[in-house]
Amino acid sequence: MATDLSNRPKLPAEIARRRTFAIISHPDAGKTTLTEKFLLYGGAIQMAGQVRAKGEARRTRSDFMQMEKDRGISVSASAMSFDFSGLRFNLVDTPGHSDFSEDTYRTLTAVDAAVMVIDGAKGVESQTQKLFEVCRLRDLPILTFCNKMDRESRDTFEIIDEIQEMLAIDVTPASWPIGVGSEFMGCYDLLNDRLELMDRADRNKVAESIKIKGLDDPKLAEHLPKHLLEKLLEEVEMARELLPELVPQSVLEGHMTPIWFGSAINSFGVQELMNGIGQYGPEPQVQKAEPRNIAPEETKVSGFVFKVQANMDPKHRDRVAFVRMASGHFKRGMKLTHVRSKKPMAITNPVLFLASDRELAEEAWAGDIIGIPNHGQLRIGDTLTEGELLRVTNIPSFAPELLQGVRAMDPMKSKHLEKALMQFAEEGAAKVFKPSIGSGFIVGVVGALQFEVLASRIELEYGLPVRFEGSQFKSARWVNGERQDVEKFVNLNKQHIAHDHDGDIVYLTRLQWDIDRVERDHKEIKLTATKEMM
Ligand code: GDP
Repeated sequence: MATDLSNRPKLPAEIARRRTFAIISHPDAGKTTLTEKFLLYGGAIQMAGQVRAKGEARRTRSDFMQMEKDRGISVSASAMSFDFSGLRFNLVDTPGHSDFSEDTYRTLTAVDAAVMVIDGAKGVESQTQKLFEVCRLRDLPILTFCNKMDRESRDTFEIIDEIQEMLAIDVTPASWPIGVGSEFMGCYDLLNDRLELMDRADRNKVAESIKIKGLDDPKLAEHLPKHLLEKLLEEVEMARELLPELVPQSVLEGHMTPIWFGSAINSFGVQELMNGIGQYGPEPQVQKAEPRNIAPEETKVSGFVFKVQANMDPKHRDRVAFVRMASGHFKRGMKLTHVRSKKPMAITNPVLFLASDRELAEEAWAGDIIGIPNHGQLRIGDTLTEGELLRVTNIPSFAPELLQGVRAMDPMKSKHLEKALMQFAEEGAAKVFKPSIGSGFIVGVVGALQFEVLASRIELEYGLPVRFEGSQFKSARWVNGERQDVEKFVNLNKQHIAHDHDGDIVYLTRLQWDIDRVERDHKEIKLTATKEMM
């Protein structure tokens, strides 16, 4: 049912029915509520409310510290799969806090589309804008859900204008709200000529849907009071004149977003949005890789790690690598090549995340997200294939913007600390640098809150109180060049040199001046703010 407008070959049915996406929003806009309703309609849970309840149980049970709860942020991303109307949805949860932009960026490399949730009373908020910019870097298709229409909300044209202006994207209404606040009755579905009426009495009930023969159908007057019907007709006429029509290809290219209006808590507009994801959200896409790109329909299996989460279950000290399947039909027990080490890996206990439970994944298709428990072999950016040495290249590692030294309160425990730091570095939760002069470590993050998160996690998971302290260094760059040149450079700049957790050489800087100096005096060396993970 997907709108296939590309000239790529038709995908096998199992792949074509997959929709892998993330939700982006500002805290409180309704992401959790919408997720619950997705799962409810997806049959993954019996009753809305369970995601939250289970989420909290999991948090207190494992590594999610009080702080996360206090601040209402989610530090860890997870994936959920469910079926709806013949489609398989894979929803990847994005960490909600602005301090975790790198993590968020990586999460968004694993999806083919994003649903942007905005609060009808608040419009485009700061976090929405930031996340949107990240999606734009990849030209991700975006579908918009304007939530909380059951409450006093802004004028519909004003909301649409704000999105167009602030995000520089064409907005086309897929539905049009009828009445505002306590008078809100539902929406006119502009794509299917249907009247959708909201039931305020039963929040889990699917809206009453009435098929209409266009806006001059007299049936409309049977269901809507005169003043609301008049307003609807007037607004839709204006909208059709002033706003662009839906062009599926523009949606796929990320230049246009269709917007649905609804109320997640009242289950209103959610199914229409899900149908929209099915119809306009893309099928699994080609993944950028070296030396060649990977197409989803290739029969050989491949996938890449976009997220590593440690200690999901404190009893087992396991790590789970979240893998986005890039091609083929994976079956449990397959032996795949771990391209970075060129070693085979038998994938015997892959996990599928259904609602918030895990279960063994007997199979997976391109587009799916599976979890592979491992002891640290799998790192962010790793590619798995059936033998061909392909490397997915869309996951960069960013130069940290904030650096601090770290030490264990108990100096006898510094070996323990090293182990903990290495684990977090592998997870991608922080950069860890070992300076070539002196002892100790320098930790680099992209947002200040991450230092607190790390300190609590090291204490909780390793029983190791630590202290972060100021560092003379402010930033880090990876050093690239011919081997002899790099060696010479390292010898001349020992006080600035450190190694990251992969053993790669970085140049620690105090001021921009340091970087300028290297660029001026060492033309043979290239300093980069990102390192492609290998
Ligand atoms: P998140 O922070 O984006 O995950 O937002 P939540 O889903 O936790 O919702 C934030 C608050 O808004 C909660 O109190 C929800 O009950 C409420 N909420 C969510 N959707 C709606 C809605 O459609 N209407 C109203 N009135 N409240 C909503």
